[in-house]
Amino acid sequence: MKGWFQRFMSGRYGFDRFSGFLSTCSLIFIVLGALFVPFLYFLGLLLLIYCYFRILSCNIQKRYQENLKYLALEGKVTGWFATRKIRFQQRKEYHYYRCPHCGQQLRVPRGRGKISITCPKCATQFLKKS
Ligand SMILES: [Zn+2]
Repeated sequence: MKGWFQRFMSGRYGFDRFSGFLSTCSLIFIVLGALFVPFLYFLGLLLLIYCYFRILSCNIQKRYQENLKYLALEGKVTGWFATRKIRFQQRKEYHYYRCPHCGQQLRVPRGRGKISITCPKCATQFLKKS
């Protein structure tokens, strides 16, 4: 039985992070769809079909590229939340400003009165209360 499954899966892409995300989303959609909105139920089924299509696909290179795109997007989202978490933890010691010229994020210590901030990226100077 196990040998049959290994032969069946050889040359196929298999499970990855994107498939995990798709299967989790499809499960949530199916449960929500069964309880509230029937449209979500069918969307969940479509996601599940797409998830199994990816797992059983023989086009490994294309599935790998899809997973890389997903991981880049996931990294952006988790990075955004990680930045917010760090800022929240440091909110009593530091103040965050954005450079008016280039948009660079700048962190300055709190409680120093009105200070001149020099952007390390473009050397623009501006006054802010810290
Ligand atoms: Zn700047």
